[in-house]
Amino acid sequence: MDCLFCKIVDGEIPSTKVYEDEYVYCFKDIAPIAPIHYLIIPKVHITSAADITADNSSIVAHIFEAAAKIAKAEGIENGFRIINNCGDDAGQTVKHLHFHLLAGVKMGWGPESIGKTE
Ligand code: 5GP
Ligand code: ZN
Repeated sequence: MDCLFCKIVDGEIPSTKVYEDEYVYCFKDIAPIAPIHYLIIPKVHITSAADITADNSSIVAHIFEAAAKIAKAEGIENGFRIINNCGDDAGQTVKHLHFHLLAGVKMGWGPESIGKTE
């Protein structure tokens, strides 16, 4: 399968590893939008959050477990934001389930952050 993040998991495409276990891989985003910007992905290929079912949903819990571990290990003390973009309207550009972990800056929140103007 021609999937960028599968190739990163396989080591075919280099990445800067932050954390890895049996089920997940975490690496630095190539174009960070915050001082800390990591991607946490399942090692198995799942296209997006729209493909989560009763059979594979345990990976999502595992990813959040990993996020808490990563935050502690990396000294992220003032909070972090986890974002999943699912599908084209949400801006998902890589079609392998991934969660952005953002930290290191006070982040804004509100309608304008999702493009709502009125
Ligand atoms: P999306 O827009 O699909 O939610 O997020 C995809 C993310 O993957 C983007 O933040 C983008 O910068 C990152 N990305 C795309 N290609 C690569 C790559 O080859 N290596 C790394 N480390 N990140 C990538
Ligand atoms: Zn994949």
